[in-house]
Amino acid sequence: MSLDTGLDAHADPHAEGLGLPQGQDGPAHGATFDSLDPATGDVVGTHPVDDAAAVDAAVARARQSAGWWAALGFDGRKEVLAQWRGVLTRRIGQLAAVVHAETGKPHADAALEIGLAIDHLAWVGAHAEKVLGRTRVSPGLLLSNQTASVEYLPLGVVGVIGPWNYPVFTPMGSIAYALAAGNAVVFKPSELTPGVGRWLADSLREVVGDRALLQVVTGFGETGAALCRADIDKLAFTGSTATGKRVMATCAERLTPVVIEAGGKDALLVDADADVTAAADAAAWGAFSNAGQTCIGVERVYVHEQVYDRFLAELSDRARAVHAGNDPAAKLGPMTMASQVDVVRSHVSDALQRGGRAVVGGEDTVGERFVQPTVLVDVPEDSLAVTEETFGPTVTVRKVRDMDEAVALTNAGKYGLGSTVFSAKRGPEIARRLRTGMTAVNSVISFAAVPGLPFGGVGDSGFGRIHGPDGLKEFTYAKAVTRQRFKPVLNLTTFDRTPEQDTTFATLLTALHGRASQLPKRPRKPLRTRKD
Ligand code: NDP
Repeated sequence: MSLDTGLDAHADPHAEGLGLPQGQDGPAHGATFDSLDPATGDVVGTHPVDDAAAVDAAVARARQSAGWWAALGFDGRKEVLAQWRGVLTRRIGQLAAVVHAETGKPHADAALEIGLAIDHLAWVGAHAEKVLGRTRVSPGLLLSNQTASVEYLPLGVVGVIGPWNYPVFTPMGSIAYALAAGNAVVFKPSELTPGVGRWLADSLREVVGDRALLQVVTGFGETGAALCRADIDKLAFTGSTATGKRVMATCAERLTPVVIEAGGKDALLVDADADVTAAADAAAWGAFSNAGQTCIGVERVYVHEQVYDRFLAELSDRARAVHAGNDPAAKLGPMTMASQVDVVRSHVSDALQRGGRAVVGGEDTVGERFVQPTVLVDVPEDSLAVTEETFGPTVTVRKVRDMDEAVALTNAGKYGLGSTVFSAKRGPEIARRLRTGMTAVNSVISFAAVPGLPFGGVGDSGFGRIHGPDGLKEFTYAKAVTRQRFKPVLNLTTFDRTPEQDTTFATLLTALHGRASQLPKRPRKPLRTRKD
């Protein structure tokens, strides 16, 4: 099978099958691998297994282009990123076809994730200067003869390692932000979606020509490890927690800083006063869309006992109404990674063996490649289906006494990526008590589509943030500068300092901070905490 990607440059011998243009990405050192259509097993494209030498060469090329790119400044970079945005928008159907072919997800879902990625590109272009540009800060009274400023400068070359489940949206959360901050990027896509990665790099090359601004290296885990060991200035990793730990260990060899966006086990909480129909709709989409292969997918639900029965009935109806398949009516595609099917099966089977019940689906509906929606109840909290990331279209539903119990159960997990709350009155209050990087109230996954919000987790979900101002700063270093405007009355940084000047300094210090250290004569009122 060969896809028409719509990119009109000459064929890249290292990307056979996709008809991709000639790349300047690393040369093939012999070995190649195929990306396959998970629904049919057809070969989608053939790509090089880039070794350490090829990765190092790509990083060296990126280093050469990084200076040019940084020197373009915010306006120049904004213009280039706008042109790239235009290419992506005009060719969205072609890129969606590559995503569909390599992941199996429905074409419309592929177009949706690309659309959201384009929105992020627009946001970084519009906001990079405001977030990263030079700003003055107060020098303080002691240094009032100075001006003080901070700006956020590009690191140089950023390595990005991405997963296969959202092969455009997820890596773009790092790529777009690293580029807008003034860095060149070398991107290692998942071995399951190399064609998508190559398409992205080649489409940017249409705008910047030979500049090695975004290069793709392809291969397996060893290629990713080679990128971690290369002469990069930061590594942005998105993938599983286990691989994230390996990435961190490898990056430690060179003290290369990392951002780790890892797995999740997101919970959805339904309060007694919630809109139950909306909550069931959101739970169904959050749990089953993309065949459950979503880091911020809903994997567990905690429902107030007053609305539990109605919620379960409505969720079950919705679960029965959608199916996984390769037919046009299928809302769910195949499991992209064959081995994930075994993980899903083991979690469902563990839940059932330990007293759980499948209200919809179950072990029998976990096929070879297609997994039907499964709703599990009465599942013990220490079973795999509740504690570990399943990454399939399954969800556990548990009745709780109140939202305090729901919050405690949510926070008991080792992950802390996203969460969802459905509550008419107490949504924001409950959201703040959940130990997750992001929470959607009365909708699901919406935080990922707001480019101005940081995205990332705590605990086993990783650290660091992509998206938003924090995501831009993640790919920079803070540069602090002071400038003396006039000679100080009291020069503290000289060996010529006199005892009188030391006394003046001590007097000043007491005037400024002395009262703060005084113990209260009367017992203080208890400290007030901010009300929820
Ligand atoms: P993996 O952890 O298996 O792989 C992620 C990437 O790391 C792939 O490109 C992989 O390459 C590469 N890799 C593998 N081994 C190494 C290594 N030793 N050194 C460097 N790189 C390596 O994750 P998946 O691709 O299976 O993606 C699914 C996971 O991603 C889920 O856990 C999901 O929750 C998480 N995820 C997290 C998101 C977030 O923002 N927090 C968003 C999306 C997904 P190769 O494919 O060639 O093995």
